Amino acid sequence: MSKVARTVVVKSVPLPRRVFRVFVELEGICRNIVEQLTMFAVGNSITSFAKLKALKYRELRALYPQLPLHYAYTACQDASTRAKSFLRLKKRGFAEKDYPEVKSVSIWLDDHLWRLSSLTSVEIATHKGWIKIELESHKRYWKYVNSGWMFFSETKVKLDKKSRRVLIYLTFKKSVELYKPKGFTPVDVNENHVAVLVDGKAYLFETGFRDIVLGYYYRRKRIQEKYDETFGVNCRIKKKVFRKLKEKKRKDNLKWKLASIVVGIAKEKQYAIVLERLGKNPAKEMINHIGDSQLRHRIYQASFKGVQRAIEEKAREHGVPVVYVNPKNTSRLCPIHSAEIVYNGSRVGKCPTGEELWHRDIVACVNLLIQARLGDGSFAPSLGELSVDGGCVPFSPTAAHEPTPIAREVWARRKSLDATNKHKLMRMSI
Ligand SMILES: [Zn+2]
Repeated sequence: MSKVARTVVVKSVPLPRRVFRVFVELEGICRNIVEQLTMFAVGNSITSFAKLKALKYRELRALYPQLPLHYAYTACQDASTRAKSFLRLKKRGFAEKDYPEVKSVSIWLDDHLWRLSSLTSVEIATHKGWIKIELESHKRYWKYVNSGWMFFSETKVKLDKKSRRVLIYLTFKKSVELYKPKGFTPVDVNENHVAVLVDGKAYLFETGFRDIVLGYYYRRKRIQEKYDETFGVNCRIKKKVFRKLKEKKRKDNLKWKLASIVVGIAKEKQYAIVLERLGKNPAKEMINHIGDSQLRHRIYQASFKGVQRAIEEKAREHGVPVVYVNPKNTSRLCPIHSAEIVYNGSRVGKCPTGEELWHRDIVACVNLLIQARLGDGSFAPSLGELSVDGGCVPFSPTAAHEPTPIAREVWARRKSLDATNKHKLMRMSI
């Protein structure tokens, strides 16, 4: 059984000025509280919600008597989350300032602060009493409502000041039954590719995350230099130009598409997905050549962590089991002879013992597969019940097995991949 959560943003209808003003005030109060609490939490190295609440609850009640009781709880949650992630970044040397900047604030609501009054309207507790607002529902919202997802009790609210609307971040939850895997689909993620091994055939999906991150980095740097010189460091135009770059959106888009392809393949075969267990250290051997530690961190986040997280999320949603294995030496050792493969700078290397040729990305996948079958996965299902076929190595050991590369333009262009599209894609690539 796995639990899945998805957040859907639903807009309210445009609100009357008088009503919207209440939310603007409420947001202001929440911002003040969260700012104070975050400063306090970071200053005292508090990352626990319970501790922060114990220390500050009474004070907050006295300061804001008109505010519904539970805002003190949710503000403590918000602040402790911010403090926790800031302190973690600081510890790893990624924080430049002593305190985190509270840039955007959303109003956190728990089950005491909001309720559904119908499927298209909610009521929110404010310092001026309960306010009912009508929602503009959309297709995606109804998809969740109508397909067995449950409303989660916590939600967040943001304000769209231009159109005088309230944006409600509704979270839906669902429990999904994991199936018993009939085999494994190893997935090897690296900075520019994702290799997937299905029944002895390897597919190499080009992601280009390293190039995307580096490309945006240099573009941003150029823009920065140009605008700083003309308009000064804190100019608005620069921020606007930065926003137009949409780096995150582009990466997210690719990530989720790829995740749904990979999960779709595994689900169809009823296989478990095998992933490397990623360490906490972003200085992975493959991106060690990038000197700038922040840049290295960003590439790692985008290509390794980002893709893995998306695959895990999608897998959970579709009931696909995920097995983790130790990433040590996965692309270096020959799966047959355990000897160190000699690559000489190329993607294809030679095993010194058996003299057979190996493609680097296939080696990684085969090693992941072997480890998964040996049950060296922290999450491995009991292997006894699996129908594992005899051979460990799915290739003829003398062939230079090339994976099938799939260019980004091919897999990323598709809007969504249903089963038929996926087949087409596979056929195209073969
Ligand atoms: Zn060998």
